[in-house]
Amino acid sequence: MKDPCAHCEEMMQPYLDRILTEDERIEAEAHLDECEYCRKRYRFEESLRVYVRQAVSEQMPPELRLKLAALRIPLD
Ligand SMILES: [Zn+2]
Repeated sequence: MKDPCAHCEEMMQPYLDRILTEDERIEAEAHLDECEYCRKRYRFEESLRVYVRQAVSEQMPPELRLKLAALRIPLD
């Protein structure tokens, strides 16, 4: 059987990108629920992304940011 934490790690980036299928998302969330290690890693990855996104958007003129938001283009 596959190491669930290794599997969780594989799903981490697509999970954060919100591109997992419904089944995969449920699987990932179930694992994050029961695994302290992956939960910490997830929080770290998530906060890193928020930080990067803020850093990027703060340098952008507000009009451009609004345009991008309207187009739903991910900033990373
Ligand atoms: Zn785990």
